[in-house]
Amino acid sequence: MNNSRIYAARYLLPINTAPIEDAVLQVAHGRIVAVGRRQELLRQTSGLPCTDFGDAILLPPLVNAHTHLELTDFPQWAKDAELPTSRSDFVDWILNLIRIKRGLAPGQMAISLRHGLQQLLRCGTGAVADILSQPELLPEYAGSPLLGRIDMELIGRGLVAHQPVMARAAHWLQQERVGQLAHGLSPHAPYTVSQELLSEISDYAQRKAASMAMHIAESVEEVELLHQGSGPLADRLYTRVGWPPPEPVGGAIDYLQRSDALRPSSLLVHGVQLTADEIRRIAVAGASVVLCPRSNRQLSVGRAPVEALVCQGVNLCLGTDSLASNSSLSLWDEMGAALELYAPVLSAVDLLRMATMGGARALGLSGEMGCLTAGSGAHFQVVRPDKLPAMADLAPFLCQGERGREVAHLYLQGVDVLKDATP
Ligand SMILES: [Zn+2]
Repeated sequence: MNNSRIYAARYLLPINTAPIEDAVLQVAHGRIVAVGRRQELLRQTSGLPCTDFGDAILLPPLVNAHTHLELTDFPQWAKDAELPTSRSDFVDWILNLIRIKRGLAPGQMAISLRHGLQQLLRCGTGAVADILSQPELLPEYAGSPLLGRIDMELIGRGLVAHQPVMARAAHWLQQERVGQLAHGLSPHAPYTVSQELLSEISDYAQRKAASMAMHIAESVEEVELLHQGSGPLADRLYTRVGWPPPEPVGGAIDYLQRSDALRPSSLLVHGVQLTADEIRRIAVAGASVVLCPRSNRQLSVGRAPVEALVCQGVNLCLGTDSLASNSSLSLWDEMGAALELYAPVLSAVDLLRMATMGGARALGLSGEMGCLTAGSGAHFQVVRPDKLPAMADLAPFLCQGERGREVAHLYLQGVDVLKDATP
């Protein structure tokens, strides 16, 4: 039993099974060996070194399935640029984002990315699917204990754009990974990536066995552009960046399927405007959808059709998106907002599952992270609130939001990564 240790707490949420009271978690060599009631595991764990967290809740780390950590300092940048705080619509938001990114001094985005990595850990996040637009920032992830992946943002319309975009994709996938984070590709959105370019990216990702994430069906402006080739995106974004007028391509899922980009590993972000038929096709393909309720609310793009997504059995997970459209990177806060917006279709138990197991599955981390079960990696967090609820009330209690401030420990690969973190 070399290297074996147990962790005890009043409550333990395995997520894949019912909560356990007076529980222990046994780990050895960076893996979970056993989970159960202290009494039941007494014989096999007696004599092992024990860390007892006392009146606390032990559960898997959260998986933030969509963010752009390089934009973490966006609120400060917007303040410095004296941007109007009220936006009139989705296209204004995009144009402001472009303007602010272009006005940044060298090094600002690197600092911002580092802030994002720190903030994720502090609120109990163990894995992330991050979108990066500046490949030279890769070294900033070095030393981060986070699992998951970094997807390179790819944008291009018009045939001249293909060669440099594909060179960027190839360069990114050839780069050696830093830490535990894999490299994937993120064709940005149907309104910023032409059908032909998406086909090339999708084909390349398949040949390289790389993951893909894409913003899909986020706004009504996107739907109008795809169906009619016109609207505010064509009038204001396309003219601003000098793209030729768009051709109508039909719905977002038609666009994905025509380029063979709807696959089990596809991570579809937002999905607010999806139709029932499109949701059925996502379910058949086995792709995952990342819901970002607070970003959707802040940008006033609507509410995702969770009724149909749940009914069709689509794998759902949660993401914060960036701080350009959200107020924190805490998935605890995201669960709180999701409960308000999606109840009673999604319960607190459903949301906890989405924020852990759903996210792990979407990121290809099932078996490694997402639930506390024998054989999984030794990844877990400890939440220590002022007052514990009764066991029956644990899930709603955890989804009240703000639990992120009560994360006392975050263990990744068996190591408490918050131990020496600055508050
Ligand atoms: Zn996003």
